[in-house]
Amino acid sequence: MFTNVMKKHNYSAGPCILPQEIFEKSAAAILDFNNSGLSLLEISHRSKDFVAVMDEARALVLDLLNLTGKGYQALFLHGGASLEFLMVPNNLMKANGKAAYLDTGTWASSAIKEAKAFGETVVVASSKSENYKHIPKDYTVPADADYFHCTSNNTIFGTQMKIFPTVNIPMVCDMSSDIFSRVLDFSKFDLIYAGAQKNMGPAGTTLVVVREAILGQSGRNIPSMLDYQKHITAESMYNTPAVFPIYASLLTLQWLKNLGGIAAIEKINSAKAQLLYNEIDRNPYFEGVAATEDRSDMNATFLLKDEIHAPIFDALWKEARISGLAGHRSVGGYRASMYNALPLESVEVLVSVMQDFEKKIAGMNL
Ligand SMILES: *Cc1c(COP(=O)(O)O)cnc(C)c1O
Repeated sequence: MFTNVMKKHNYSAGPCILPQEIFEKSAAAILDFNNSGLSLLEISHRSKDFVAVMDEARALVLDLLNLTGKGYQALFLHGGASLEFLMVPNNLMKANGKAAYLDTGTWASSAIKEAKAFGETVVVASSKSENYKHIPKDYTVPADADYFHCTSNNTIFGTQMKIFPTVNIPMVCDMSSDIFSRVLDFSKFDLIYAGAQKNMGPAGTTLVVVREAILGQSGRNIPSMLDYQKHITAESMYNTPAVFPIYASLLTLQWLKNLGGIAAIEKINSAKAQLLYNEIDRNPYFEGVAATEDRSDMNATFLLKDEIHAPIFDALWKEARISGLAGHRSVGGYRASMYNALPLESVEVLVSVMQDFEKKIAGMNL
């Protein structure tokens, strides 16, 4: 459809790259949805065709996460991952209870800030004093907390949790930037949430996967729109859902399923990450930011050893049609976000740019 558009190598941290076929199929559905003579955008969300989209998307989420028939519900809500920061304590923290949080980055600390508005919020460990370069590992989760909250992938700092603690209280995880990217025992988690725009679809919807049995115990008065149980009862249509982001997310989930599911994409994701980290470690002009053992397969953060060469490197990657490589302002340097849809070829291009840069600087220093 868009054959004369030359796609850039898109390293954007979010909203981010999606498979090209999702752009094409969802664009087609805006013009004519299911040969109905109507746009996806001008039909009722309660029409048979859209209810089928919602049902399939919810079922496919559980299928891909291997949670079908295990007491979980998938919801497509509004408000981004940021609204989950307060929906989680509102639904799970008891009126005089407390919650436990692991502080591994900016998003984790935003979640902590919201929880504090609801009650006692214990930070079990934090790597803030080292600008979140690593994931704290030595901590204990209080057994009397109402839930434990962690962030599986720290989008800004480029760290990723490789192991999760075993706790005997509900475990909640913000998986916004690595959901569907690697195989985990998802049944270890009682509530998972993710803004769509990092690895699943366009901005505008938030995925929540919740084990239904943990709900209804906080004793709090929960406003309807913030009540997971109400959304479950309404089959994720308590109010008008974000029809387009959900449809595009469904297409991404189908794409992933056809590819072989999470196990298949995980292989590709680790190949991409290994290729880039090998170059960061080998190339004398670069250095990684995150602690090696905590490096994220999704977001690689790295610096030039000598900032003075930044204009040369920046010109080279831009010339190679790479986009979105600038680091977050709180880390500086560069961040390569390698979400599911980023092809290996884009990483090969980046690595060859880094090698060209090395030759150029080595030549200048002669
Ligand atoms: C981007 C991001 C968020 C914020 O998501 P919104 O949907 O913009 O609210 C939260 N957590 C993590 C880990 C993120 O990467």
